[in-house]
Amino acid sequence: MDLPKLAIAALGGTVSMQARNAGEGVIPTISGETLLASVPELTTLARVTVETLGLLPSASLDFDFLLSALSWANFQIKQGAVGVVITQGTDTLEETATFFDHLWDHEEPLILTGAMRSAAQPGADGPANLLDACRVALAEDSRLRGVQVVMNGQIHPACRVRKTDSLAVQAFSSPVFGPAGMLVENVVRYVRPPAHRTVLPLPQQTTQKVAMLEASLSADTLLLENILELGYDGLVIGGFGAGHVSESWAEVIKHIAKKIPVIIATRTGSGSTAQSSYGFIGGEMDLIRKGASMAGFLCPRKARVLLWLLIGCQREDELARYLLED
Ligand code: GLU
Repeated sequence: MDLPKLAIAALGGTVSMQARNAGEGVIPTISGETLLASVPELTTLARVTVETLGLLPSASLDFDFLLSALSWANFQIKQGAVGVVITQGTDTLEETATFFDHLWDHEEPLILTGAMRSAAQPGADGPANLLDACRVALAEDSRLRGVQVVMNGQIHPACRVRKTDSLAVQAFSSPVFGPAGMLVENVVRYVRPPAHRTVLPLPQQTTQKVAMLEASLSADTLLLENILELGYDGLVIGGFGAGHVSESWAEVIKHIAKKIPVIIATRTGSGSTAQSSYGFIGGEMDLIRKGASMAGFLCPRKARVLLWLLIGCQREDELARYLLED
């Protein structure tokens, strides 16, 4: 039987980590080829191309690296892959998934996965996650769903997924919306329709800087006051509650928003920002009047990725449209 072609890339992360010597912490050393050897069943499901694009902790991935990984993945689809799987660290998975999803212009699925337990730990979840991710990438029902994250038997859309636990095996969730699907006895089952997506052109520039600050009680305005002088091209704020800041922050934001795009998201970890509920100074109605945009359901980190990409393709003037679509 002619098996479908599947492409897998390893970028590093806990799934690729082990300790060199007993008592030392784990570091990324395991290649894509070795990861593949941990899931021998896969050879009965697909013809696999595997590549190690990096061996990095995911905190050290950057947008330029992701653009080169994207170009590798695009090439794999051109070469006939029915889907692509990327393994990486989970710490920044919610951001990389969002980044790829805004740029993934194929019907074929791009699936990201990783592990919460390193390769030599008892109950290591890497092989199970990798095999699940491959099953999702090979499933006909995964077409036209863009980029998804598969972890711990669940399938999450890139635009919703967040890392909501630091060390637990069940570390990922899609607050408010829930997972798009799951694996039931190794079968891919979707329980929600595909999320709405608009694909952006590749950024023509990559030197833009988008700052991200979180509102906190009794915070000074020193960093905020220096955002423009430091040369930032955009600003995202993780605001209190439904997207609020203090009076002193609101005053500074008014000046910043005259020069660069400012997005206010919620720092709560779940739910949407408001639009028309609170009228106090620093409330969302006041911030909108002062020129800021509200992130809706986008968390601060996803809003920052979106703004960076929009600036990169000179579409920051259309920010409101992209935020509304979410
Ligand atoms: N917990 C992280 C992981 O799952 C640590 C390292 C990283 O993100 O690369 O991979």
